[in-house]
Amino acid sequence: MKSGEANLPQFPVSRLRRLRMTESLRSMVRETRLAPEDFIYPLFVVPGSGVKKEISSMPGVFQMSVDNIVRECGEVAGLGVPAVIFFGVPESKDELGSEAYSSHGIVQRALRAVKKDVPGLVLITDVCLCEYTSHGHCGIVRDGEILNDESVELLAREALSHAEAGADMVAPSDMFDGRVGAIRTALDAHGFTSLPIMSYAAKYASGFYGPFREAAESTPQFGDRRSHQMDPANGDEALREVALDIAEGADLVMVKPALPYLDILWRVKERFMMPTAAYNVSGEYSLVKAAGRNGWVDEERVMMEMLTSIKRAGADLILTYFAKDAARLLRQRGS
Ligand SMILES: [Zn+2]
Repeated sequence: MKSGEANLPQFPVSRLRRLRMTESLRSMVRETRLAPEDFIYPLFVVPGSGVKKEISSMPGVFQMSVDNIVRECGEVAGLGVPAVIFFGVPESKDELGSEAYSSHGIVQRALRAVKKDVPGLVLITDVCLCEYTSHGHCGIVRDGEILNDESVELLAREALSHAEAGADMVAPSDMFDGRVGAIRTALDAHGFTSLPIMSYAAKYASGFYGPFREAAESTPQFGDRRSHQMDPANGDEALREVALDIAEGADLVMVKPALPYLDILWRVKERFMMPTAAYNVSGEYSLVKAAGRNGWVDEERVMMEMLTSIKRAGADLILTYFAKDAARLLRQRGS
């Protein structure tokens, strides 16, 4: 027993159930409340027009061409969700992922179109090369090794290209060393001193990314990402990663995935007091959808409980495929 607890009045004076007796009472003492403004909705942009293709392992999530992305962004904004994050699936891939930093790249086109039609929505871009390289790795590969410094140069070019196309924020997800600093320098050198960086600061090599790789068509053709993403067993190292990103100029920091790493989220928020995001990843989404469809869990209830737990653990923002469903539900309950 902690020292502060020793003097608390004991049963029957203390009955914590008193404040749980009705929904009105429960609501009055509720400590964590979700709102649509907590969410960032991930979107997958593909070439073509009129494309809206459901991702089989992620029911309710679609790859969409730019025209449909614009429509979707209008809907997201209408639900009160303040931001989206774009992932691009390019027309062609090559060794250096050159579509990632082309001014005519798929994400760059989506940025211009959405900025024009849905000006109030905050447009964040995922900055990485794995969707754009023929080998599916996050950077340049030489002799089987994923190179750090050369890859970081390309990531800085990609971030700058997103900024020039109208991004409101860039989010490097590669986990190479020094990328945040390189991106900050490139942005500042070209007049984007006010453009914030949200770093995927503590990103783990996780099995929960499985369905995403179908969505982003980014499965590595050989090897894995354990030479840059973090070992799931490490906690202290996450704090070092976050500290470095902050020192390099990150404005927001992210922990990814969310649910298996709520302890990390809590430690990061407690330690750094930074605006902190958590990525409720594809596998976390798919598990709930699959179990819900089988009638094994109440999907809506589990969704809200998961999102609440992520916020309670310290997230100011939650990147989640549930953003639209949860926002809709919150609005229904509020009315
Ligand atoms: Zn990547």
